[in-house]
Amino acid sequence: MAMAKDFDAIIIGAGIIGAATAYAMARKGQRVLSVDKLPAAGYGSTSGSCAIIRPYYSTVEGSALAYESHFYWKEWEEFLGVPDERGMARYYDCGCIVMKTEGNRYLRPGIEIMDEIGCPYQELSPAQLVERLPIVTVDSFAPAKRPEDPGFGEANPTKLSGAVFFPTGGYISDPQLATHNLQRAAEAKGAIFRFNAAVADILKEGGRASGVVLDTGEHLRAPVVINIAGPHSFKINRMAGVEAGMKIKTKALRHEVAHVPSPPGYDIEREGYVFSDNDVATYIRPEIGNHILVGSEDPECDRREWVDPDDFNREFTDQWRVQVMRIAQHIPQLGIPSQTKGVVELYDVSDDWIPIYDKSDLPGFYMAIGTSGNQFKNAPVVGEMMADLVEACEGGCDHDRDPVSFHLKHIGRTVGLGFYSRLRDINPDSSFSVLG
Ligand SMILES: Cc1cc2nc3c(=O)[nH]c(=O)nc-3n(C[C@H](O)[C@H](O)[C@H](O)COP(=O)(O)OP(=O)(O)OC[C@H]3O[C@@H](n4cnc5c(N)ncnc54)[C@H](O)[C@@H]3O)c2cc1C
Repeated sequence: MAMAKDFDAIIIGAGIIGAATAYAMARKGQRVLSVDKLPAAGYGSTSGSCAIIRPYYSTVEGSALAYESHFYWKEWEEFLGVPDERGMARYYDCGCIVMKTEGNRYLRPGIEIMDEIGCPYQELSPAQLVERLPIVTVDSFAPAKRPEDPGFGEANPTKLSGAVFFPTGGYISDPQLATHNLQRAAEAKGAIFRFNAAVADILKEGGRASGVVLDTGEHLRAPVVINIAGPHSFKINRMAGVEAGMKIKTKALRHEVAHVPSPPGYDIEREGYVFSDNDVATYIRPEIGNHILVGSEDPECDRREWVDPDDFNREFTDQWRVQVMRIAQHIPQLGIPSQTKGVVELYDVSDDWIPIYDKSDLPGFYMAIGTSGNQFKNAPVVGEMMADLVEACEGGCDHDRDPVSFHLKHIGRTVGLGFYSRLRDINPDSSFSVLG
């Protein structure tokens, strides 16, 4: 007997990845319903994203996907095809500078990957680095320490050896607006978004997913259900009963991002770059209003705070000051404000900090999760990958045995989606950090 259905697919979560998947599936003619328990698109962890676009990852696959995504953001309006009454998110492609350190093996592995995928870069001597980014010094303070540790702020005898500049990067002005742009584009193709609608259970029929139950008791039916619930991903997987069949799992990690004024006399908005400073395990990016966002690259000396995504501390802690003090070692003119501003948000972290874009052991149930603080940039491409994956699996492909592949049209490479499998072994090449 045919299964009753209200939609072809239900997507749980309307963050940047969920909205991009809704758009890609709607473009394929699927009748998609996106449900989110929050009041609007991109109000979950996407809203706290630094939204940095950069091509350097620790694996070839990760870098290729990220480099490809640059071109989608460059052609954002053409990609979406419809205007948004709230305006369009803007891509500030100022480029990224990454410090060469012993910890990142002076970026030699990263440069090899860039050569392999044909991504441009320029090596900078210490003098060239300071010329481009005059607010930084090339003293070395590694390894990253906590301010209370002996030796914090004391420079090592050897200075840094320079950096690498990646021109195909930058940041998105407003990650929530970018998600709303995707919502509008998906709606123009027939997708429906329902907000304030919390999924409380996954329906099953005939051995496969058949829809969702909302916390109001309402049943919504579709033969395809996709978990794109961000830091709540493990809760949705448990509802579906698929977690036990996964080798790689996900959990929620609390993170703080500081928002501080640029050093006096320096216009970071016009002259600055995204700057990844492995020497002190901190990254920064320019922010509107001549401010700087300061995030952490998760050094070993910091305690990782795994939390319940429904019950965690949204106030800043001492970590805010720690991150600002760390980067202030390299930017001596940076003031440390007494008032704390920024965001406290969650990463949905997988066991190896590489996402899971996959089917599950429950036919009809899929997942795009474990984005580990580093997948905002990839959302437009991931949406298309997920749409292809679902189409192939629903068409009879045995993805676990014979993985679907996806063509990265701008950079002319093909990636095997088995790389993102829930059944993979932990990838030893990962940075095991937000760097991916
Ligand atoms: C502080 C921070 C900084 C970051 N910086 C960067 C960066 O610079 N560059 C980069 O590429 N990436 C970055 N990221 C990562 C990036 O933002 C995420 O990978 C991305 O936003 C994840 O999008 P998503 O759609 O998967 O999840 P989310 O945006 O979290 O969306 C999931 C949605 O699911 C909904 N949901 C959950 N449970 C239910 C339920 N039961 N029923 C209905 N709805 C539900 C939630 O309400 C939420 O809206 C950062 C992340 C954080 C937190």
